[in-house]
Amino acid sequence: MTMNDPQQQQMIRDAMKAIAERRPGRTKLVYDKTKKTIVAVAEGSEPPRALNITADDADMFGVITLSGQWLRQEWHRLNGSASIAARFTSWDNGDAYTHYELGPQGGPTISECTIALERASEPAPRLRIVLTKVNAVGRAGNTFVATDGSIFVATAYEHQDGRDIPLDVTIAEVQPALSARRAGILETSVLSDRSALFIGLGTGGGYATIELAKCGVRRFALVDPDRLSVGNVVRHPGGISQVGRLKVHVIRDLILEKNPDAQVDVYPFAIAAENMDAIRPLVRAANVVICGTDNRPSKLLINQLCIEENVVAVYGGAFRRAYGGQVLRVQPRVSPCQQCFVSAMPEQAADVEISSPDEAEAIAYSDRPVAVEPGLSLDVLPIANFLTKLALLELLDGKPTSLDVLRRDYSAPWYLWLNRPESGTPYSGMPPLSDSSDEMTINRWYGVGFERDTACPACGDFLNVTAAAHGIDLDSVVIPSKV
Ligand SMILES: [Zn+2]
Repeated sequence: MTMNDPQQQQMIRDAMKAIAERRPGRTKLVYDKTKKTIVAVAEGSEPPRALNITADDADMFGVITLSGQWLRQEWHRLNGSASIAARFTSWDNGDAYTHYELGPQGGPTISECTIALERASEPAPRLRIVLTKVNAVGRAGNTFVATDGSIFVATAYEHQDGRDIPLDVTIAEVQPALSARRAGILETSVLSDRSALFIGLGTGGGYATIELAKCGVRRFALVDPDRLSVGNVVRHPGGISQVGRLKVHVIRDLILEKNPDAQVDVYPFAIAAENMDAIRPLVRAANVVICGTDNRPSKLLINQLCIEENVVAVYGGAFRRAYGGQVLRVQPRVSPCQQCFVSAMPEQAADVEISSPDEAEAIAYSDRPVAVEPGLSLDVLPIANFLTKLALLELLDGKPTSLDVLRRDYSAPWYLWLNRPESGTPYSGMPPLSDSSDEMTINRWYGVGFERDTACPACGDFLNVTAAAHGIDLDSVVIPSKV
């Protein structure tokens, strides 16, 4: 028999169909090494000395993935007309077809697919999924339970060169599949009503958004005026094909890639005094504010708003050339604020990442220039990770969670991490990590306690403390009201 034999072709087709449906067929495929071709062998006949191809080898066929949620939404239409159209992204020359409705970013090549109930009698299109009614729910990923309770098994075919090539079909149930992986640590819906506001979507802020989306946070507000540049791509989660887009849009799409049901509001605002009225309601609506901006004025503006609106904020930043990093958590009027931090530890507060060419030049190595925002993504991610963990604990406040045990460990206002013993810093003489030591070393986080400044202009009683220090009786002072 040869490939041109119609009976052999039918046997190959039947065997491929059986493989795609992962059920044993009456024929099986074997690879005939002498003829260098696939042949079908009927059950009971003597197979040639060749490789058997079984359902486990079904990866030789392409795969097609359809959204179960979409299919339920469209069920009424499908049931009425017996077939409906759907769009799929075709990846890798047809090796994988992914339902366009499954996520926010389809690929560049779209294939039209017909989804048909078995009774549809129109001519076979190039790509089709056929739903066949069955009596019981199977364990395979191609089973679909319709809104009326009826059960179907999906098979899929690609029509090519006069033949139907089977595709391995999966009906994807996104939310159950995602929450199943988190169960035990974070229960399915525990974070679905919590909301995070991100100020600044650089590397740290960008990664933190995506990590919280993976944890199941559903509501995000993103504030950043910048666009993704080519140079950003070396550290930012956004990729080269996104260059030029606003970072709020790049990150929104990455969040939706991880949690398609998330609600993401975007605000391409600068953090400046004139925008505070627009940002205030976003702070008020948030359960936590994550601030990853790299300059002091913007941090102090956000600090002021968060204290006034009584919302916990976490601030993260890398030190220059990412020799280390720090995270500050501010619980308004409970723990020291960003302004208290600047007063208590001015050097640490000033040692932030380099974000302008002038600043880069000022600290350049003598023999070569330092790029703006130098530092590897690798060196920023531990800071983003710590920042996200603190934000997650705030979002879980009041919720039953096994992560509560961590509150003991995350009780300091400020956390410090050192990446290397950078010369010219107080940490240049640290002992090697390999020595067992009680001294500070690289690659550890240190919780650092310090007190609130009672005279802090942002969170303290500045007026009374200052008046008392200077022996001024405030009752005798007339304070002009704001014009
Ligand atoms: Zn303060």
